[in-house]
Amino acid sequence: MNATDTGLMAFSYSRFNTFDRCPLWFRLRYIDRIPEADSAPLVTGRIAHEVAEAYGKHCIGNGVATDFAFFDDLARRACSDAPAEVGADLRGILDTMRDTISFIEGPASRIEEELAFDREWRPVAWDDPAVFFRAKIDKRMTTDEGVIVWDLKTDRRIPPASDLPTNPQLRIYAYLVTLLDPDVQSITVVLFFGRYGRSQSWTFTREEAESYGKEIERKAERIEVEMEWTPRLGEACRICPYTARCEAFQSAYAGMDFLVRDEEHARELAARREAVGAAYDLLTESLKAHVEAHGRIALPDGRVLDFVPGTKVTFEDVRAVVAFLRKELGDDLAWAALSTTKTQVTKVIRKAKRKDLIDAALALGTETPTTTFKIAKKGEEGEEG
Ligand code: SF4
Repeated sequence: MNATDTGLMAFSYSRFNTFDRCPLWFRLRYIDRIPEADSAPLVTGRIAHEVAEAYGKHCIGNGVATDFAFFDDLARRACSDAPAEVGADLRGILDTMRDTISFIEGPASRIEEELAFDREWRPVAWDDPAVFFRAKIDKRMTTDEGVIVWDLKTDRRIPPASDLPTNPQLRIYAYLVTLLDPDVQSITVVLFFGRYGRSQSWTFTREEAESYGKEIERKAERIEVEMEWTPRLGEACRICPYTARCEAFQSAYAGMDFLVRDEEHARELAARREAVGAAYDLLTESLKAHVEAHGRIALPDGRVLDFVPGTKVTFEDVRAVVAFLRKELGDDLAWAALSTTKTQVTKVIRKAKRKDLIDAALALGTETPTTTFKIAKKGEEGEEG
């Protein structure tokens, strides 16, 4: 059986993403085509995108940056048609989007573009049998500085900003823009987290973006050639719709009561979470002791649990590192290689007993949105509808 036999000709970011999460999930979804029940986050994301699309088309079509009355009408209808379990959450997201989205950016904006390419990266129709890769771009704008791609996210989790340059979705968008616009030299991809009204972005040069085409091809080839659907037990199982039919999951977690069933169960599990964390630490220590005494542990899927050697390098003499990099690479790259954190800066200032300098020092940094999954103190909670 090869990829063509399975109808697995067309790839996309979400197909790659599913494969990375768990190859067996990929197989069940895209090859066996076992239907998945709509999850609440999926429905919320779909409706928020529909509202953003209709709003964008309206604003661009009428040459206005915003039209709150139009948005309110869209939002009201979307919420009244939405399933009850997503209603309040969706309302909160739409309220934030209303106050933060505008279409003022530039003359050439395109909304919800459906893109399809063949294996030679030539544009083809969405349902062309030769299609190799598909993507939908929420918004693409051409400005004097380059192209901006805007992608709406309804996720609760904001990934670390340090992951942006290697984020596969951003790289895919950047590469596709080089195909659409032969003159573009700079591509900025903006992830807009509608739930919080906050954005993250990264800018790629044309040269960088062009190199990602090979990355996409290699990834597709690996999936097509390997055709291995090994279950990857782990975090993905938390949101996988196939847990009930996945033997690996059933045998690994049989009897463990940690998949949330309803609100009450969620409250109970949240309260138990710290104890489970302590149990995880205990389990890890116990396994470490076993490996120390008896050697590596072979997992059923062929991987092993072991002490893996590596090297940690710390630079005590930062001045020497800077001097070296400045001499060899120049100032810009040398300073770009170094960064510090809010915690470090605050710690040093506190140590010097100059708390009055904290705000001024932090103002020198760049704020990027982030989320931390934790039990929040009063007043620290996320804003939700
Ligand atoms: S339950 Fe976990 S291991 Fe099984 S298919 Fe889903 S993600 Fe993969």
